[in-house]
Amino acid sequence: MIGYAPKEGFRLANRVDLDAMIPREDFGVMDDTFNMDLMSDFPLRNLAKDAPVLKLLRKPDFQRETNHWTPEQVVTLIESFVDSEVIPSLILWKAPSFIFVIDGGHRLSALRAWMEDDYGDKHISRAFYKTEISEKQLKIAEATRKLTEKRVGRYTDLVAQVGLPVTGTNTKMHKRAQVLATRALPLQWIQGNAAAAETSFYKINSQGTPLDDIETMLIKNRRGPIAIAARAIVRAGSGHKYWSGFTPECVAEIEKITVQLYENVFKPEVDEPAKTLELPVGGSVSPLDALSLLVELLCITGTRQQGVKSIAQYAEDSTGKATVAVLRNCYEVLHRISGKDSGSLGLHPAVYFYNERGKYNRFLFLAMVSLVTEKLKSNNSGWFKEFTSARSSLEQFLITNKSLIAMLIVTLWKGQRIYKTRDLLDYLVNEFKIPGKTVSVEEAISFLGLSGRIVDVRNVTTTPSISDDTKAAVFMREALPKAMHCPLCGGILDQTKSVSYDHIKGIQSGGLGDADNLQLVHPFCNSIKN
Ligand SMILES: [Zn+2]
Repeated sequence: MIGYAPKEGFRLANRVDLDAMIPREDFGVMDDTFNMDLMSDFPLRNLAKDAPVLKLLRKPDFQRETNHWTPEQVVTLIESFVDSEVIPSLILWKAPSFIFVIDGGHRLSALRAWMEDDYGDKHISRAFYKTEISEKQLKIAEATRKLTEKRVGRYTDLVAQVGLPVTGTNTKMHKRAQVLATRALPLQWIQGNAAAAETSFYKINSQGTPLDDIETMLIKNRRGPIAIAARAIVRAGSGHKYWSGFTPECVAEIEKITVQLYENVFKPEVDEPAKTLELPVGGSVSPLDALSLLVELLCITGTRQQGVKSIAQYAEDSTGKATVAVLRNCYEVLHRISGKDSGSLGLHPAVYFYNERGKYNRFLFLAMVSLVTEKLKSNNSGWFKEFTSARSSLEQFLITNKSLIAMLIVTLWKGQRIYKTRDLLDYLVNEFKIPGKTVSVEEAISFLGLSGRIVDVRNVTTTPSISDDTKAAVFMREALPKAMHCPLCGGILDQTKSVSYDHIKGIQSGGLGDADNLQLVHPFCNSIKN
């Protein structure tokens, strides 16, 4: 068998979400060593509905989500199983009440997905995620199903072959069906208590499939408010409830705010490069990218005090209060950036957070988050008015120059990118709030501490075919200037997410709520209109 492990440094764009296949359980509470006669291998029937072993099977609560495999990897595993190819041993640990999968979560989940015909989109996943299954996840699940049916067949069809006579046409299928009945996966047991099992988990995962930096960070700080909040938002309060031990009030509050934040950051769903102006401020959701974005976001907005606390600087949260506080602080900032609340600037994502080819830029987003957070912390409510005065010039400047700026940002040291960009935005607002003021791109670049010759960064096309990137670029070029503008400030309106209906002739002066007297404006612009 060739490794099923995904390559290091991958993006989770086309990964099958099998996280519902094996539930999670808190690992730490069970400290006893447990000895008994343990099963020596793992037949497939252990994964069948109602199998006693399946009922005992758990993932440690800190294990990463089972969503790292491509459809190809899922199918290859199933194929290897029915074709009797080598599959590496599962590593299990027996706790008093459960059997924990220390290594092999993806393997077992892929097999169970096949048996249940649920590749992240059917009954088990739907119950697990409630209704929050993204379009992308549904598409990938369907692609995995098709690929499996083509290469291996349906599990139920194969089961139906068991015991049937061999004919000339079904030899391969018949052989595979036999394997279903007789094959078992090899397994090893970890001896010792929970601490020993946890140590094994880290050892195994630092050898085989390396954990990403972000995963290691989340695991190490898994009882802290930032990790809990990030994991809650990424699934809009559904999926495994890392927060289920908190007080009922905190649980209810966490689930409420995370749904709002999910909507605020990740809706509507789009494919990138985007060919629509209806875009999420947080880019498209692929679980690992989303988690790392959320950790950064929550750290920037996390505290009301000055400065930024890193994920590790937060104490463990035992009641849920700290998690609720972190979520509330985040919402406080986010609803000023996007959404319909009266203080919302309703920043258009295409103008502020995406480049001219419809690609999301997290630094531009986090820089704006950081800027708004700072202004809120210093109670500088006047700044929002200054921003509104500067807005139309600022947006023109960004539309023309942000790709160049974004390209230069990545030449900065990683730890500086967000804050340098924030300072640049702050500077631009300060300049553009003065009527008639212009800023050259060279001035902006020198503000970043960079200098040099500006080169044309556009890709050179050498074939007559049109790439997705180019299509997205043409779309952005044509659509943005035609987007609706706010008649009060001249800035671009995000008409799907962040508009407010303004009475042109005010209510106090007898203005009516009929169509002729209404216009679409930014919620914030409406709130400060005299
Ligand atoms: Zn406006």
